[in-house]
Amino acid sequence: MRTEQYYTVSYSCPQCGGSVPLKELDRLLRCPFCKVRLFVFIHPHPIFFVPPPPNVSEESLIFVPYWRFRGIIFNLSKNRVLYRFADSTSLALKNNLLPSTLGIRPQVVRLKIYTNANKGLFIRPEISLNEFMQSFREHVPIWDKNSQKLKEQLFIGETLSLIFFPFHISGNLLYDPFSNKPLTSVSEGNYTSKPLFNPPEKWINFHATICPHCGGDMEATSNSVVARCTNCENWWELTSRSFHSVETFKIPTRGFIPKLWVPFWKLEFTCKNPDIKTIEQLFSYLGIPAKKLNMQDIPPTCLIPAFRMIPKHFLRLSRVLTNIQFDIPCESSFTSTHCLFPTLPAVEAFQFIPALLASLCTRKDIRIFDIAQIKYAFTKKSLIFIPMEKTGVEWVQPQHLFSIPTHWGF
Ligand SMILES: [Zn+2]
Ligand SMILES: [Zn+2]
Repeated sequence: MRTEQYYTVSYSCPQCGGSVPLKELDRLLRCPFCKVRLFVFIHPHPIFFVPPPPNVSEESLIFVPYWRFRGIIFNLSKNRVLYRFADSTSLALKNNLLPSTLGIRPQVVRLKIYTNANKGLFIRPEISLNEFMQSFREHVPIWDKNSQKLKEQLFIGETLSLIFFPFHISGNLLYDPFSNKPLTSVSEGNYTSKPLFNPPEKWINFHATICPHCGGDMEATSNSVVARCTNCENWWELTSRSFHSVETFKIPTRGFIPKLWVPFWKLEFTCKNPDIKTIEQLFSYLGIPAKKLNMQDIPPTCLIPAFRMIPKHFLRLSRVLTNIQFDIPCESSFTSTHCLFPTLPAVEAFQFIPALLASLCTRKDIRIFDIAQIKYAFTKKSLIFIPMEKTGVEWVQPQHLFSIPTHWGF
């Protein structure tokens, strides 16, 4: 969520081959050379490499895989919701001679997107992404001494990626090409005879910014995860593989012209263990006073910002919106263009639900990390756009439902 710590990645334009820099979570490639606009779809995870220094011979290069987790770890313990950022890498080979983590910083290095045309030997990971995450969860330091470790931790990954680091061979020695220091002997690690990396089939795809429904042009910002058709006004979420239609709603403005429309995910879900099927049951479980009668038929629903901000503000805003969601009058179909485009995928917003429910909980007789153990199933999503006005230091919702300090992030 701290944008300054995202990597910049050089893509090759699929149309003209020009080098186009994108931030690692960006989804819209705009080529400055041939002017093409394309959405980028990546599944199951991005594959990048650190470009070697120009003076190193391509034939001598060996690219070694590292897994990277970047995201937020919540600690749910003793009726407190604590969080911290994590950006961690780990060698994906079973080897203790090479550096165990990737010693590079996003501010210093511009990564490149992996393609089959890259020169040098790319070694296949010997540790799977699941094994990396398992080990990461088990070994991440517990910073709250009251915590009972693993089961109280909630991991929300903004990005999981595979990053190759170049080493080069000279004689029988493997060198770090940036420091030019020898690290180990080549024969000891069998680097040249290891199986080569074979990327998952169709792991990266590019799609024209054309509406799947009408063929009209779609509008989006570089980092938005939802695009709007300027012709038929349909909204489409860019998931990891394809476009998903998203239903939109808005709060009526009753005459005034808002400065900005701000998007929120309305997420419906069910809970198992304990079984919770209605919002009334959910509020009762959390010890929140029920606001309206006839809440028996409404499924558990949360309203969560569809944009990134630091977790403290994110949780506070989600709490406010989830509490007042039934006081909000909604109309279907949002069409204005003066909006903040959603930058947080619905699936990532959904992962915040246990932390949100834990921070909403007022009951002393349930331990909040039990909330993280509930099995949540995502059933429906839609976007609600809320009109905002700007006063000096705040974005204010004109019906006075809530306000957002401008320093919270947009
Ligand atoms: Zn181009
Ligand atoms: Zn359309």
